[in-house]
Amino acid sequence: MIIQAAMRVFFLFILILGSPFLWADDEFQIDPIVLADHAISLDGQWQFYWGRLLSPTQVTDPDIQWQTVTVPGVWNDLVDNGNPMNHGVATFATRLYFHPNLTQNLTINFVRVSEAFKGYLVRADGTKVISMFEGGRLSEQPEGHVVAPDYLSFALPQAEGHYWLVLQVSKFIYYKGGIRSPVTIDTNQRRERLAVYRPLTHGIVIGALVYMALNHLQIFINRRQSTSSLLLSLACLFIALRSLVGYGYLEGLFSQPSNTVAIWRFRLELLTVVLPATIWLHFYHVLFNGVLSRWVLQISWIGSILLTLAVLLISPDWLAYVILPAEQLWLLINMVGITYSVLRAIQLQRPDARVALVSFGIVSVGVINDLISTRNAHYDLFITEYAMLLFLLLHAQLLARRYAVAIQNEIRLIHDNRKLTREREAAEREATIDHLTGVLNRKGLEVRLDQAWNTAIREQTCLSLLIIDADYFKQLNDRYGHLRGDYALAFLASVMRGLVLRSNDFYGRWGGEEFMVVMPGAVVSAAAEVAETIRDGVEKAVLNFENEHIRFTVSVGVANLNPQTGDSWKTIIQQADEALYEAKARGRNQICVYSGSPNSC
Ligand code: GH3
Ligand code: MG
Ligand code: MG
Repeated sequence: MIIQAAMRVFFLFILILGSPFLWADDEFQIDPIVLADHAISLDGQWQFYWGRLLSPTQVTDPDIQWQTVTVPGVWNDLVDNGNPMNHGVATFATRLYFHPNLTQNLTINFVRVSEAFKGYLVRADGTKVISMFEGGRLSEQPEGHVVAPDYLSFALPQAEGHYWLVLQVSKFIYYKGGIRSPVTIDTNQRRERLAVYRPLTHGIVIGALVYMALNHLQIFINRRQSTSSLLLSLACLFIALRSLVGYGYLEGLFSQPSNTVAIWRFRLELLTVVLPATIWLHFYHVLFNGVLSRWVLQISWIGSILLTLAVLLISPDWLAYVILPAEQLWLLINMVGITYSVLRAIQLQRPDARVALVSFGIVSVGVINDLISTRNAHYDLFITEYAMLLFLLLHAQLLARRYAVAIQNEIRLIHDNRKLTREREAAEREATIDHLTGVLNRKGLEVRLDQAWNTAIREQTCLSLLIIDADYFKQLNDRYGHLRGDYALAFLASVMRGLVLRSNDFYGRWGGEEFMVVMPGAVVSAAAEVAETIRDGVEKAVLNFENEHIRFTVSVGVANLNPQTGDSWKTIIQQADEALYEAKARGRNQICVYSGSPNSC
């Protein structure tokens, strides 16, 4: 199957190369058997008369000296009228033979006959015009001349035998003169099928391109760092615009053919030649992570923007003669740059470089195929448009995959960050915990005390603070050993854990054998009650540790304060310390409330 297709392409290629030699038809055969298979292109050598609109019946006049011109083609090399744009009028003619057993209804199709024309089907002896068709408005002068749309079809009457096809042409506005695409004769049936099928497929392709353009624009708006999305979006837009303009849809918007529309159609068509090339060069530069030098990109952009400005501003005369060749050259140069980018990316083993190469191959096959199609009547399948769509889809796919990876990486990063935050928080918490007893350590107490102190100032409430100090602990250590001393400290912490406190209350180990309880908002009596509970709990407890029965007591200093702005929490600690000192002095195993504070409650 593939081999067969390849052989067919190869065969057609040979046919193209050989076609100039085959084109010497002097009469086109309009044969029903051929028409059953495909359209007949009137490609070949036509008669050509420069400078006059000959009347259609003059084709047989022996005094008229015709030149020979190749159709499709331009007349620029044939005419020399001192007008560099080769504006003027001309008459074309060729001979047709309609087979007698022709039953199909036929159409004749003109594509890009520059610029306005009138066509006639004339009896071979030049006696009678049997059919006439007009594109645009033909005129011998620039005034009154109106450019025809690019694609025009007309019904042919039933005919049999030998005829002349005569085309009078006028050109005063822009493009090069001539019949620039094949004139074809086709059956109505196939033409009608194409009339439905072509717009449908174009519509699908243009729709897909516009969708892709909007989609990638949206991605860019939401993710400003993805320049490649913006570039892909622009490329899709320009290629969609090219399809819209190139297939005559722009003219379709206007009921009358007009020179302004024709010129703008041409300008827009030219606009979509170079910009996509530079956009694509830039796209590959981004996709392949800087395979080009910056100055190459800059030059490409500057060149394309200058050409674009020229396309928009220059007089129509120059569009085809100066801008188009300049654009074609510039396109070629940019294509070299694009090819270089892909090859360099492959050499540098950049990801996706091979996919780019394959899609590049697909477009190339499309372009070669279409070149064959335009040149060959027996093969009429245009696929560049679809190849282009496939090309863009493949690249959109590449971007989509990259986004997926980028998003996954971002999610992973967020997870890692969260984990780190959790670990850091745990470490911070860890740093505020006393390892021996599992309650807050001095640092933890200070942090919480600071917060509680500020809240009390802000809310104008009081604060109670207890300092609990084990009595004669040095002796306990000396008697039972440090390990048992530690055990006693852990027990003391567990007594505090067992207290019934409010949610804002907290406690911890202030240092050595000293502990602290802080009770924001608690009045002094409530604090004293808690102090007593602790003292009582410790006194009553007998610790069994490695067969020793240990008993010890604590003294508690209680302070209560209504802190004022500017006060430091060191004040209340000092007061509690003083109370503790008092309790010790009174003989230990007791609580003492600091009484010197003017603002207690
Ligand atoms: P007072 O009744 O006056 O408070 O007498 P004291 O012996 O408890 O007071 P002092 O400040 O003289 O001694 C405190 C002792 O607490 C000294 C030290 O051996 C002991 N100590 C401090 N931290 C620890 C600890 O982490 N583990 C153990 N086992 N003992 C500790
Ligand atoms: Mg002490
Ligand atoms: Mg002590």
